[in-house]
Amino acid sequence: KLQQRIHGTTLEINLNALTHNYNFYKTKVLPQTKIMVMVKAFAYGGGATEIANHLQQLRADYLAVAYTDEGVALREEGITLPIMVLNPAQESFHLLEKHDLEPVVYSPLFYRQLGKYCRTHQVSMKIHLDLDTGMHRLGFDQQQLGELKELVEMFPELIVTSLYTHLVGADEAVHEDFSLQQLELFSQMCEQVSEYLDHKPLRHALNSAGIIRYPDYQFDMVRLGIGLYGVEVNGIFDQKLRPISSLKTTISQIKHLVAGESVGYSRKGQMGKNGKIATIAIGYADGYDRRFSNGKGFVLIHGKKAPIIGNVCMDMCMVDVSEIDTKEGDEVLIYGPGISLKELATNIGTIPYELLTNISSRVKRVYY
Ligand code: PLP
Repeated sequence: KLQQRIHGTTLEINLNALTHNYNFYKTKVLPQTKIMVMVKAFAYGGGATEIANHLQQLRADYLAVAYTDEGVALREEGITLPIMVLNPAQESFHLLEKHDLEPVVYSPLFYRQLGKYCRTHQVSMKIHLDLDTGMHRLGFDQQQLGELKELVEMFPELIVTSLYTHLVGADEAVHEDFSLQQLELFSQMCEQVSEYLDHKPLRHALNSAGIIRYPDYQFDMVRLGIGLYGVEVNGIFDQKLRPISSLKTTISQIKHLVAGESVGYSRKGQMGKNGKIATIAIGYADGYDRRFSNGKGFVLIHGKKAPIIGNVCMDMCMVDVSEIDTKEGDEVLIYGPGISLKELATNIGTIPYELLTNISSRVKRVYY
Protein backbone atom coordinates (compact mmCIF):
# COMPACT_ATOMS: atom_id res chain seq x y z
CA LYS A 1 0.00 0.00 0.00
CA LEU A 2 1.14 3.51 -0.74
CA GLN A 3 2.81 5.30 2.10
CA GLN A 4 1.51 8.65 3.17
CA ARG A 5 2.94 11.58 1.20
CA ILE A 6 5.22 13.79 3.21
CA HIS A 7 6.42 16.27 0.65
CA GLY A 8 3.81 16.95 -2.00
CA THR A 9 5.67 15.25 -4.80
CA THR A 10 5.92 11.49 -5.08
CA LEU A 11 7.08 9.02 -7.68
CA GLU A 12 4.84 5.97 -7.44
CA ILE A 13 6.32 2.79 -8.87
CA ASN A 14 3.99 0.03 -9.91
CA LEU A 15 5.91 -3.23 -9.57
CA ASN A 16 3.09 -5.21 -11.21
CA ALA A 17 3.53 -3.08 -14.31
CA LEU A 18 7.25 -3.84 -14.16
CA THR A 19 6.48 -7.57 -14.08
CA HIS A 20 4.09 -7.11 -16.99
CA ASN A 21 6.76 -5.35 -19.08
CA TYR A 22 9.41 -7.89 -18.15
CA ASN A 23 7.13 -10.73 -19.21
CA PHE A 24 6.32 -8.88 -22.43
CA TYR A 25 10.02 -8.80 -23.36
CA LYS A 26 10.35 -12.42 -22.27
CA THR A 27 7.87 -13.31 -25.00
CA LYS A 28 9.91 -11.33 -27.52
CA VAL A 29 13.14 -13.26 -26.99
CA LEU A 30 13.93 -16.92 -27.47
CA PRO A 31 13.63 -19.08 -24.35
CA GLN A 32 17.40 -19.48 -24.16
CA THR A 33 18.16 -15.76 -24.55
CA LYS A 34 19.27 -14.23 -21.28
CA ILE A 35 18.06 -10.84 -20.11
CA MET A 36 20.37 -8.25 -18.61
CA VAL A 37 18.48 -5.33 -17.11
CA MET A 38 19.97 -1.86 -17.02
CA VAL A 39 19.47 -0.50 -13.50
CA LYS A 40 22.02 2.27 -13.88
CA ALA A 41 21.14 5.84 -12.97
CA PHE A 42 18.97 4.73 -10.05
CA ALA A 43 17.12 2.33 -12.37
CA TYR A 44 16.25 5.19 -14.73
CA GLY A 45 15.04 7.19 -11.76
CA GLY A 46 12.79 4.49 -10.33
CA GLY A 47 15.05 3.38 -7.49
CA ALA A 48 17.75 0.80 -8.11
CA THR A 49 17.46 -1.31 -4.97
CA GLU A 50 13.73 -1.94 -5.05
CA ILE A 51 13.72 -2.57 -8.77
CA ALA A 52 16.77 -4.84 -8.61
CA ASN A 53 15.11 -6.76 -5.80
CA HIS A 54 12.01 -7.23 -7.87
CA LEU A 55 14.09 -8.33 -10.87
CA GLN A 56 15.86 -10.83 -8.67
CA GLN A 57 12.46 -12.31 -7.82
CA LEU A 58 11.60 -12.35 -11.52
CA ARG A 59 14.83 -14.28 -12.11
CA ALA A 60 16.45 -11.81 -14.47
CA ASP A 61 19.86 -13.09 -15.54
CA TYR A 62 22.05 -10.05 -15.13
CA LEU A 63 22.00 -6.44 -13.98
CA ALA A 64 24.09 -3.56 -15.29
CA VAL A 65 25.07 -0.26 -13.74
CA ALA A 66 27.26 2.56 -15.01
CA TYR A 67 29.61 3.09 -12.07
CA THR A 68 31.12 0.93 -9.37
CA ASP A 69 29.40 2.70 -6.50
CA GLU A 70 26.02 1.93 -8.05
CA GLY A 71 26.96 -1.76 -7.96
CA VAL A 72 28.32 -1.52 -4.41
CA ALA A 73 25.03 0.00 -3.25
CA LEU A 74 23.11 -2.92 -4.75
CA ARG A 75 25.39 -5.48 -3.10
CA GLU A 76 25.02 -3.71 0.24
CA GLU A 77 21.27 -4.07 -0.12
CA GLY A 78 21.64 -7.81 -0.64
CA ILE A 79 21.37 -8.09 -4.43
CA THR A 80 23.13 -11.28 -5.49
CA LEU A 81 22.54 -11.28 -9.27
CA PRO A 82 25.65 -10.86 -11.41
CA ILE A 83 26.26 -7.15 -12.01
CA MET A 84 28.13 -5.68 -14.99
CA VAL A 85 29.70 -2.24 -14.47
CA LEU A 86 29.87 -0.24 -17.70
CA ASN A 87 32.41 2.41 -16.82
CA PRO A 88 34.29 1.60 -13.62
CA ALA A 89 36.98 3.99 -12.41
CA GLN A 90 40.50 2.69 -11.93
CA GLU A 91 40.36 3.81 -8.30
CA SER A 92 37.49 1.39 -7.71
CA PHE A 93 39.20 -1.91 -8.65
CA HIS A 94 39.31 -3.02 -5.01
CA LEU A 95 35.56 -2.44 -4.70
CA LEU A 96 34.88 -4.46 -7.84
CA GLU A 97 36.84 -7.28 -6.28
CA LYS A 98 35.32 -6.95 -2.83
CA HIS A 99 31.73 -6.88 -4.07
CA ASP A 100 32.03 -9.39 -6.89
CA LEU A 101 31.18 -6.82 -9.57
CA GLU A 102 32.04 -7.50 -13.20
CA PRO A 103 33.69 -4.59 -14.98
CA VAL A 104 33.50 -3.71 -18.64
CA VAL A 105 36.95 -3.46 -20.18
CA TYR A 106 36.96 -1.17 -23.18
CA SER A 107 40.58 -0.35 -24.04
CA PRO A 108 44.05 -1.93 -24.09
CA LEU A 109 45.20 0.46 -21.37
CA PHE A 110 42.30 -0.46 -19.10
CA TYR A 111 42.89 -4.19 -19.77
CA ARG A 112 46.49 -3.81 -18.65
CA GLN A 113 45.62 -1.79 -15.56
CA LEU A 114 42.99 -4.25 -14.40
CA GLY A 115 45.19 -7.21 -15.30
CA LYS A 116 48.05 -5.81 -13.23
CA TYR A 117 45.72 -5.15 -10.31
CA CYS A 118 44.48 -8.73 -10.37
CA ARG A 119 48.02 -10.12 -10.66
CA THR A 120 49.27 -8.03 -7.76
CA HIS A 121 46.36 -9.06 -5.57
CA GLN A 122 46.35 -12.67 -6.82
CA VAL A 123 42.69 -12.62 -7.76
CA SER A 124 40.77 -13.31 -10.91
CA MET A 125 37.88 -11.23 -12.15
CA LYS A 126 35.07 -11.75 -14.64
CA ILE A 127 35.15 -9.05 -17.29
CA HIS A 128 32.99 -7.95 -20.22
CA LEU A 129 34.54 -6.60 -23.41
CA ASP A 130 32.95 -3.62 -25.12
CA LEU A 131 33.44 -3.89 -28.89
CA ASP A 132 33.06 -0.64 -30.81
CA THR A 133 31.13 -1.22 -34.02
CA GLY A 134 30.24 2.40 -34.74
CA MET A 135 29.08 4.10 -31.57
CA HIS A 136 32.58 5.51 -31.04
CA ARG A 137 32.06 5.99 -27.34
CA LEU A 138 34.01 3.26 -25.54
CA GLY A 139 35.29 -0.06 -26.81
CA PHE A 140 37.89 -1.98 -28.79
CA ASP A 141 37.68 -1.41 -32.52
CA GLN A 142 38.44 -4.14 -35.02
CA GLN A 143 42.03 -2.93 -35.51
CA GLN A 144 42.72 -3.48 -31.82
CA LEU A 145 41.75 -7.15 -31.78
CA GLY A 146 45.36 -8.26 -32.39
CA GLU A 147 46.49 -6.35 -29.34
CA LEU A 148 43.52 -7.73 -27.43
CA LYS A 149 44.70 -11.27 -28.22
CA GLU A 150 48.07 -10.53 -26.62
CA LEU A 151 46.36 -9.08 -23.56
CA VAL A 152 44.06 -12.07 -23.16
CA GLU A 153 47.12 -14.34 -23.23
CA MET A 154 49.11 -12.08 -20.91
CA PHE A 155 46.42 -11.87 -18.20
CA PRO A 156 44.65 -15.19 -17.57
CA GLU A 157 43.41 -13.56 -14.35
CA LEU A 158 40.77 -11.74 -16.41
CA ILE A 159 37.98 -14.08 -17.44
CA VAL A 160 36.22 -12.81 -20.54
CA THR A 161 32.61 -13.49 -19.66
CA SER A 162 30.88 -11.57 -22.41
CA LEU A 163 31.41 -9.57 -25.57
CA TYR A 164 29.02 -6.79 -26.42
CA THR A 165 28.36 -3.82 -28.61
CA HIS A 166 25.84 -0.98 -28.54
CA LEU A 167 23.71 0.25 -31.44
CA VAL A 168 23.75 3.95 -32.27
CA GLY A 169 20.07 4.23 -33.14
CA ALA A 170 18.07 1.07 -32.59
CA ASP A 171 14.92 3.14 -32.13
CA GLU A 172 15.18 4.94 -35.46
CA ALA A 173 14.21 3.38 -38.79
CA VAL A 174 16.54 5.78 -40.56
CA HIS A 175 19.52 4.01 -38.94
CA GLU A 176 18.51 0.49 -39.91
CA ASP A 177 21.25 0.01 -42.49
CA PHE A 178 23.87 1.28 -40.10
CA SER A 179 22.55 -0.89 -37.27
CA LEU A 180 22.64 -3.98 -39.45
CA GLN A 181 26.22 -3.17 -40.43
CA GLN A 182 27.05 -2.84 -36.74
CA LEU A 183 25.43 -6.18 -35.94
CA GLU A 184 27.28 -7.93 -38.76
CA LEU A 185 30.58 -6.39 -37.73
CA PHE A 186 29.86 -7.45 -34.14
CA SER A 187 29.30 -11.08 -35.27
CA GLN A 188 32.61 -11.00 -37.12
CA MET A 189 34.50 -9.47 -34.20
CA CYS A 190 32.99 -12.03 -31.81
CA GLU A 191 34.28 -14.83 -34.01
CA GLN A 192 37.72 -13.28 -34.09
CA VAL A 193 37.86 -12.89 -30.31
CA SER A 194 36.38 -16.32 -29.64
CA GLU A 195 39.25 -17.90 -31.59
CA TYR A 196 41.66 -16.98 -28.87
CA LEU A 197 39.46 -17.78 -25.90
CA ASP A 198 39.24 -21.31 -24.49
CA HIS A 199 35.55 -20.89 -23.66
CA LYS A 200 32.47 -19.34 -25.25
CA PRO A 201 31.64 -15.90 -23.84
CA LEU A 202 28.10 -14.54 -23.91
CA ARG A 203 27.41 -12.11 -26.75
CA HIS A 204 24.90 -9.25 -26.55
CA ALA A 205 23.99 -6.23 -28.63
CA LEU A 206 20.31 -5.30 -28.38
CA ASN A 207 18.72 -2.67 -26.16
CA SER A 208 14.94 -2.32 -25.73
CA ALA A 209 14.28 -0.94 -29.20
CA GLY A 210 16.73 -3.40 -30.74
CA ILE A 211 14.90 -6.38 -29.21
CA ILE A 212 11.83 -5.43 -31.19
CA ARG A 213 13.49 -4.24 -34.37
CA TYR A 214 16.28 -6.82 -34.78
CA PRO A 215 14.96 -10.07 -33.28
CA ASP A 216 17.39 -12.12 -35.38
CA TYR A 217 20.35 -10.61 -33.53
CA GLN A 218 19.61 -11.58 -29.95
CA PHE A 219 22.85 -13.55 -29.73
CA ASP A 220 22.99 -14.95 -26.16
CA MET A 221 21.61 -12.04 -24.16
CA VAL A 222 19.77 -8.72 -24.58
CA ARG A 223 20.14 -5.55 -22.51
CA LEU A 224 16.77 -4.25 -21.49
CA GLY A 225 16.40 -0.67 -20.27
CA ILE A 226 13.73 1.92 -21.02
CA GLY A 227 11.16 -0.59 -22.28
CA LEU A 228 11.07 -2.32 -18.92
CA TYR A 229 10.15 0.99 -17.35
CA GLY A 230 7.21 1.16 -19.73
CA VAL A 231 8.31 4.05 -21.87
CA GLU A 232 7.57 4.03 -25.57
CA VAL A 233 10.69 3.19 -27.48
CA ASN A 234 9.88 2.86 -31.14
CA GLY A 235 6.16 3.08 -31.37
CA ILE A 236 5.57 -0.48 -32.43
CA PHE A 237 4.65 -2.09 -29.14
CA ASP A 238 3.95 0.93 -26.98
CA GLN A 239 0.40 0.02 -26.17
CA LYS A 240 1.52 -3.35 -24.82
CA LEU A 241 3.86 -1.77 -22.29
CA ARG A 242 2.62 -0.25 -19.05
CA PRO A 243 4.27 2.85 -17.60
CA ILE A 244 5.68 1.78 -14.26
CA SER A 245 6.01 5.23 -12.75
CA SER A 246 3.62 8.02 -11.94
CA LEU A 247 5.06 11.32 -10.81
CA LYS A 248 2.41 13.06 -8.78
CA THR A 249 1.99 16.19 -6.74
CA THR A 250 -0.83 18.29 -5.33
CA ILE A 251 -2.34 21.72 -5.82
CA SER A 252 -1.14 24.08 -3.10
CA GLN A 253 -3.26 27.09 -4.06
CA ILE A 254 -5.71 28.29 -6.70
CA LYS A 255 -5.89 31.93 -7.81
CA HIS A 256 -8.41 33.71 -9.99
CA LEU A 257 -6.74 36.21 -12.29
CA VAL A 258 -8.02 38.64 -14.87
CA ALA A 259 -6.90 39.15 -18.45
CA GLY A 260 -3.55 40.94 -18.65
CA GLU A 261 -2.23 39.84 -15.25
CA SER A 262 1.13 38.09 -15.22
CA VAL A 263 2.22 34.87 -13.55
CA GLY A 264 5.55 34.07 -11.92
CA TYR A 265 9.13 35.24 -12.33
CA SER A 266 9.90 37.87 -14.95
CA ARG A 267 6.18 38.15 -15.66
CA LYS A 268 6.69 35.43 -18.29
CA GLY A 269 3.20 34.02 -17.88
CA GLN A 270 0.41 36.18 -19.24
CA MET A 271 -3.30 35.64 -18.73
CA GLY A 272 -4.88 36.04 -22.18
CA LYS A 273 -8.34 36.17 -20.60
CA ASN A 274 -9.93 35.95 -17.15
CA GLY A 275 -9.28 32.55 -15.61
CA LYS A 276 -7.65 30.64 -12.79
CA ILE A 277 -4.27 29.14 -12.13
CA ALA A 278 -3.12 26.42 -9.74
CA THR A 279 0.25 26.46 -8.02
CA ILE A 280 1.60 22.91 -7.80
CA ALA A 281 4.35 21.53 -5.59
CA ILE A 282 6.98 20.59 -8.15
CA GLY A 283 9.83 22.60 -9.61
CA TYR A 284 13.12 22.26 -11.37
CA ALA A 285 14.82 21.15 -8.15
CA ASP A 286 12.59 18.08 -8.28
CA GLY A 287 13.83 17.44 -11.80
CA TYR A 288 10.89 19.08 -13.52
CA ASP A 289 12.69 20.72 -16.40
CA ARG A 290 12.59 24.50 -16.54
CA ARG A 291 12.19 24.28 -20.29
CA PHE A 292 8.59 23.18 -19.63
CA SER A 293 7.86 26.83 -18.81
CA ASN A 294 5.04 28.63 -20.53
CA GLY A 295 3.09 25.98 -22.35
CA LYS A 296 5.97 23.66 -23.27
CA GLY A 297 4.76 21.26 -20.61
CA PHE A 298 1.42 20.21 -19.22
CA VAL A 299 0.07 18.13 -16.36
CA LEU A 300 -3.14 16.16 -15.93
CA ILE A 301 -5.69 17.16 -13.31
CA HIS A 302 -8.77 14.93 -13.13
CA GLY A 303 -7.62 13.56 -16.50
CA LYS A 304 -7.61 17.00 -18.15
CA LYS A 305 -4.58 18.78 -19.58
CA ALA A 306 -3.41 21.86 -17.70
CA PRO A 307 -0.57 23.75 -19.45
CA ILE A 308 2.30 25.27 -17.47
CA ILE A 309 1.94 29.04 -17.28
CA GLY A 310 4.97 31.22 -16.53
CA ASN A 311 8.45 30.05 -15.66
CA VAL A 312 8.91 26.84 -13.71
CA CYS A 313 10.28 27.86 -10.27
CA MET A 314 12.70 25.87 -8.09
CA ASP A 315 10.05 24.11 -6.00
CA MET A 316 6.78 25.03 -7.64
CA CYS A 317 5.15 25.91 -10.90
CA MET A 318 1.83 27.26 -12.02
CA VAL A 319 -0.65 25.67 -14.40
CA ASP A 320 -3.66 27.14 -16.14
CA VAL A 321 -6.79 25.45 -14.78
CA SER A 322 -9.30 27.89 -16.22
CA GLU A 323 -11.14 25.04 -17.93
CA ILE A 324 -10.85 22.48 -15.12
CA ASP A 325 -13.13 21.95 -12.15
CA THR A 326 -10.56 21.50 -9.40
CA LYS A 327 -9.69 22.59 -5.86
CA GLU A 328 -6.73 23.05 -3.54
CA GLY A 329 -5.28 19.72 -2.40
CA ASP A 330 -6.29 17.88 -5.57
CA GLU A 331 -3.87 15.42 -7.12
CA VAL A 332 -1.81 16.38 -10.18
CA LEU A 333 -0.23 13.85 -12.53
CA ILE A 334 3.08 15.10 -13.92
CA TYR A 335 4.26 11.93 -15.74
CA GLY A 336 2.47 8.61 -15.90
CA PRO A 337 -0.31 6.70 -17.62
CA GLY A 338 -2.14 8.96 -20.08
CA ILE A 339 0.84 11.23 -20.62
CA SER A 340 3.26 10.61 -23.46
CA LEU A 341 6.77 11.12 -22.13
CA LYS A 342 7.98 11.15 -25.68
CA GLU A 343 5.69 14.05 -26.58
CA LEU A 344 6.73 16.01 -23.49
CA ALA A 345 10.41 15.32 -24.10
CA THR A 346 10.16 16.31 -27.75
CA ASN A 347 8.52 19.62 -26.78
CA ILE A 348 11.70 20.63 -24.97
CA GLY A 349 14.20 19.01 -27.31
CA THR A 350 15.14 16.03 -25.20
CA ILE A 351 14.34 12.32 -24.75
CA PRO A 352 12.25 10.43 -22.17
CA TYR A 353 15.45 8.99 -20.65
CA GLU A 354 16.51 12.45 -19.51
CA LEU A 355 13.11 13.28 -18.00
CA LEU A 356 13.13 10.06 -15.97
CA THR A 357 16.71 10.15 -14.78
CA ASN A 358 16.41 13.80 -13.77
CA ILE A 359 13.74 13.19 -11.14
CA SER A 360 15.69 14.30 -8.10
CA SER A 361 16.42 12.41 -4.91
CA ARG A 362 14.16 14.77 -2.96
CA VAL A 363 11.14 13.18 -4.65
CA LYS A 364 9.94 10.32 -2.50
CA ARG A 365 9.69 6.97 -4.24
CA VAL A 366 6.89 4.65 -3.14
CA TYR A 367 6.28 1.12 -4.39
CA TYR A 368 3.11 -0.85 -4.70
N1 PLP B 1 23.17 -1.08 -23.26
C1 PLP B 1 23.96 -0.03 -23.02
C2 PLP B 1 25.44 -0.18 -23.19
C3 PLP B 1 23.41 1.20 -22.63
O1 PLP B 1 24.20 2.25 -22.39
C4 PLP B 1 21.99 1.29 -22.48
C5 PLP B 1 21.34 2.54 -22.08
O2 PLP B 1 21.77 3.62 -22.22
C6 PLP B 1 21.22 0.15 -22.74
C7 PLP B 1 21.83 -1.01 -23.12
C8 PLP B 1 19.71 0.16 -22.58
O3 PLP B 1 19.12 0.94 -23.55
P1 PLP B 1 17.53 1.15 -23.55
O4 PLP B 1 17.24 1.89 -22.31
O5 PLP B 1 17.32 1.98 -24.76
O6 PLP B 1 16.90 -0.19 -23.61
